[in-house]
Amino acid sequence: MKATINNDLCAQCRSCVSNCPYQAATQRGNKFYVSSFCTGCGNCIAFCPTGAVSVSDELIELDNQKNDAALKELLDIKKPIVAMKYANAPLEGMETEEGPTFWCALCGNVCAAAADPVFFNAKSITCGGASLFGLGNRKVKVTKQEMHEALVAAHVVGKGRHYRTFWEMGKSRSNYPPLIKRYEGLIIGPLDKVEMPDLVILPVNGEQTSRLAAAYTYETGNIITGSAGSAGCIAASTAYVENKPIFTCGDHGVRTFMQLNPGEILVSTPYALVPGFVKNLTTAAEVSTEDK
Ligand code: SF4
Ligand code: SF4
Repeated sequence: MKATINNDLCAQCRSCVSNCPYQAATQRGNKFYVSSFCTGCGNCIAFCPTGAVSVSDELIELDNQKNDAALKELLDIKKPIVAMKYANAPLEGMETEEGPTFWCALCGNVCAAAADPVFFNAKSITCGGASLFGLGNRKVKVTKQEMHEALVAAHVVGKGRHYRTFWEMGKSRSNYPPLIKRYEGLIIGPLDKVEMPDLVILPVNGEQTSRLAAAYTYETGNIITGSAGSAGCIAASTAYVENKPIFTCGDHGVRTFMQLNPGEILVSTPYALVPGFVKNLTTAAEVSTEDK
């Protein structure tokens, strides 16, 4: 359930604003309120010194199938929306990806063809995708020279490739927050088949990105930022680490494996924010219909 603020009890200390992990507690003039992006985590209630924050009776719609259908309809998305969920083991009846493969290849299987959810871990992923998502790495000991040769063979580094040398690759990745290992693996699948995911990735064009951004900023003034110049997985995982949506055009690997059209990019967002997107996109759609 969403939080709500009684401004008659509020001492305007801003504690709720500074302690909301999702930037959903916010200030308008000298009043405080909670936006549609509230996840019901309860942090603000614990930090409010006056008891001005409480639980409202507004339910947050977390049904993955309903949210998948709503996002596709409101944004006119034709491709499957990718969902990822941290887990220590596959769910009953779910296959484990044996690999070796790339994270973006698994993502592409979902995005291009709505493949059934699979469980993957550091052993199945040969690229940096597993460690960038906080799953650790394959524990295969390689020398610096072997690593260099593998990256050259994979066309990642070298003249005319994604990075001139290993050094630029490391520098590019140091721009992103590290993720400490907390889970053994991730489930990846289409949003309508993964309940309560942690993260969703939407393949969207410029128009759809603009509408998502408008839905995000509408009540809060917060903006969606993005990054380019490194692997798509690292940008996607940043949304999980920072509890906010991120857009990325991805690198060559992601664009190829996910079969993105020239006009498509990716928007990655914590699933907890999806109900807020659906609510504000619905409001915008209702208003534009009324305007006709
Ligand atoms: S997301 Fe959590 S901290 Fe933020 S307003 Fe909602 S309940 Fe409070
Ligand atoms: S934490 Fe409580 S008192 Fe402080 S600004 Fe928020 S609602 Fe007001």
